[in-house]
Amino acid sequence: MARRQASTETPTPAPATKPRRRASEASAEPVVERVPRRRDAKPKARQADLVVIGAGSGGVAAARRAASLGARVILVERDAIGGTCVNRGCVPKKMLSYGAGWASILSTCLSHTGGKEDWRDAIVRVNAEVARLNASYKQRLNEAGVEIWHGAATFNDQGDVLVGNEVVRAGKVLIATGASPIDLPVPGGELVSSSDDLFTWQTVPASIVVIGGGYIAVEMASILSRYGVKVDLLVREDRLLPKFDHDIAAALAEALVAKGIRVHFRAEVSMVSQSNGAFEVCYTQADNPGRQQTVRAQAALAAIGRKPNVSELGLEALGVKLDRKGGIVVDRQFRSSVRAIHAIGDCMADNVHLTPVAVAQGRWLADRLYGKRGDRVDFDFVPTAVFCEPAIGAVGLTEAQAIEEAGGKADRVRTEIRRFVSLENRFGGVPQPSVFKLVFNARNDRLLGVHLMDGAAPEIVQTMALALRLGVKASHLKTTMPLHPSVAEELFG
Ligand code: NDP
Repeated sequence: MARRQASTETPTPAPATKPRRRASEASAEPVVERVPRRRDAKPKARQADLVVIGAGSGGVAAARRAASLGARVILVERDAIGGTCVNRGCVPKKMLSYGAGWASILSTCLSHTGGKEDWRDAIVRVNAEVARLNASYKQRLNEAGVEIWHGAATFNDQGDVLVGNEVVRAGKVLIATGASPIDLPVPGGELVSSSDDLFTWQTVPASIVVIGGGYIAVEMASILSRYGVKVDLLVREDRLLPKFDHDIAAALAEALVAKGIRVHFRAEVSMVSQSNGAFEVCYTQADNPGRQQTVRAQAALAAIGRKPNVSELGLEALGVKLDRKGGIVVDRQFRSSVRAIHAIGDCMADNVHLTPVAVAQGRWLADRLYGKRGDRVDFDFVPTAVFCEPAIGAVGLTEAQAIEEAGGKADRVRTEIRRFVSLENRFGGVPQPSVFKLVFNARNDRLLGVHLMDGAAPEIVQTMALALRLGVKASHLKTTMPLHPSVAEELFG
């Protein structure tokens, strides 16, 4: 595929100086807006039924549901409403991914017209949508009767919540503070950008080193590459996407390499330095640990996991139990070891870190606390997607997980793999294969997992989650009428 000319401008991303802090963290005192200030030295505690700390997807969902059930709710947020998903995650990422898709289609099919998708233009449209969502979230919270306080929340030793000069005593507190990128733990790691920074870039660098092999590293490598950036992807493992099926991960690695991304496996980063505006990332490879190698690029980005945002809340003093990754430990009712304090979403390390999971947990908890007991959402079949190109969609067990669940007996698991070139790719003259892998229980032919690599994969796995929940078997797939022409038909008939 023809690659667009990379930008020769100096990228704005560059040298983030650590520690990076949000705008609202810039002063020692938390920024408190819309909170009436008191003159007396010892403010009286405000009363609330529920204080929700964190206005990300989970916190907003819980606050709105609780307020609509009659609870007096205060929602505290130190940054923009909407949290990671709206401001620094799913929404801007998916929009950039669309733009990157357009860039790729245009350069493949319409290169003779000179059509191209421009990052600067894309970021303007992304920011407009993020601003629209911020406003819409606020409006819906106001309509539900939720009071919004802007500032950073901490607990005092009586368990009251402090925000600036204000104190609030609540029957219950919900912690929905999410997570943030883990810093690269090597000398010079503080120089490297994170995915949060990327959404503030006004231009893209001509070249970048992306460190990590999970969701974010793969998505960002793919997006940037389609915007014409020369990408080196340094992966510590010998495969991409450790949480996904190995056949799909291998097919994706081939696809990314075919698209011009240089993927370096078993690459352990040891040091990052910067001189004359260029980054040097040093690494060693497991098969030759004595030989230090170096990649140079205009920018460097690490996506090596995320850590729960709980360290500044003062939870330890209250006796709230944290796990070894610093996440809040909860029971099935999302109660922490301190009964009045609950937690949902990414601030628990031992959770599936996806927006719909946090939303479902928040709504379920609000229903349980202030309304009738709602149906518990099924968390066994959580569909998930990686918005790279080609996209990955998955739901249910990988082959390795299915074998593990069968007590290590591989003969109890059956798989089917289909490789084909989609009509869309044939039209574009791109030989990129799509790969569909189905995992079955070999004894009763029940479908256990669906793992797809294709542009349509995320949309398809959403409905396959329902099929898995309903216990679909191979015979159902064979006897269901396929829709032609589509890529989904490869699952049926
Ligand atoms: P992931 O957990 O997906 O992947 C982290 C990767 O970084 C792993 O491959 C890990 O390797 C590697 N790693 C860890 N430490 C180092 C290190 N010191 N040097 C090099 N590599 C290292 O994390 P992400 O940051 O990509 O994403 C965080 C979470 O956000 C995801 O798990 C997901 O839940 C959510 N998310 C979901 C998206 C979606 O739904 N599309 C998009 C983006 C994020 P190892 O296995 O060796 O530890």
